[in-house]
Amino acid sequence: MDREEIIRWLGEEDPSQLETLWQLADAARMRHVGEAVHLRGLIEFSNQCSQDCTYCGLHVGNKNLTRYRMSEDEILACVHSAAEFGCGTVVLQSGQNPAMPAKWMESLIGRIKRETSLAVTLSVGLRRERDFALWRQAGADRYLLRFETSNPRLFETICPLLSGGLSRRMSALDVLGALGYEVGSGVMVGLPGQSLGDLADDIECFRRLGLDMVGVGPYIPHPGTSLGADEARRRESQPIDTELMTCKVVALTRLLCPRTNIPSTTALATVNPAEGWELGLARGANVIMPNMTPEKYRIHYEIYPAKACIHQPGKHCLDNENLQGLLESIGRKTGTGRGDSLNYLAAATPNK
Ligand code: SAH
Repeated sequence: MDREEIIRWLGEEDPSQLETLWQLADAARMRHVGEAVHLRGLIEFSNQCSQDCTYCGLHVGNKNLTRYRMSEDEILACVHSAAEFGCGTVVLQSGQNPAMPAKWMESLIGRIKRETSLAVTLSVGLRRERDFALWRQAGADRYLLRFETSNPRLFETICPLLSGGLSRRMSALDVLGALGYEVGSGVMVGLPGQSLGDLADDIECFRRLGLDMVGVGPYIPHPGTSLGADEARRRESQPIDTELMTCKVVALTRLLCPRTNIPSTTALATVNPAEGWELGLARGANVIMPNMTPEKYRIHYEIYPAKACIHQPGKHCLDNENLQGLLESIGRKTGTGRGDSLNYLAAATPNK
């Protein structure tokens, strides 16, 4: 599929054509990664951040936020709950905070690897190469670092503090891959000024980078950010369907990167609490990320408002039985094991 065709699909509005796209993506998902839905337990261990990203509620200028970093023991308690819940992976996520000691993270990773058999994914933003290397040595398996948009001009407007930002994020993805991490990236859909061409470039970029994981969610304006305050007003007069566009990007990503792991994101479940997760799973996704962060911290990790299950564990959150029922109702089952990326495994064993 070439760029023109991707753009045509992104602009498609005919429901019967879109049905075809969903079916193609679902069939590719089934053929390449199967019926299993892998669970990744998300632990939002700190909201401390030195960055000034104009879309994100954790940005350094947001003085209305109580900042926290969970202790190692608190995080380990969440890790054990994730294992009991049936997750094969824990995702340790935080703001981008250079003051977080690399050694602290090293010891945390070591302890998780000693006490459990879970895969460990890090999502803590850009760091120095030697930190990435230290954490890999300590046993971290995967790293998530979204490039947010492949359009360098758009990137500069949304991440002003990260000078040379997009290329730095892109080179970090190379470094992470060379260190032996499974590498994940992704973008937000519906950023102000983002065109269909930009999204097509994003999808082509996922393919070019040969990513092991691709996370795509709708951009949700946060009123406590410079981008969000204006955008929320603009959308009131001119609503845009970021949910549908996100589903198109998920479906096209599955077609172009058939073996990659794709989550049905919390952001999608937030714009459509009734069935966002299910729609993502039916249109190409094969991963979900139940939130394991204790509520007393979760309420302070507001990257965007009204995050799905921010206040109470809802149907998708901390209730494993409901989650199993939900997956069965859409003909899927919970994945067992770590759910490693098939791209990654194939690269590690080239003769297979
Ligand atoms: N500090 C880490 C983790 C960021 S949070 C990092 O920089 O990589 C994880 C993702 O949430 C971000 O990469 C971004 O794509 C998404 N996100 C942040 N604010 C958002 C918003 N307002 N709407 C939708 N997604 C958002």
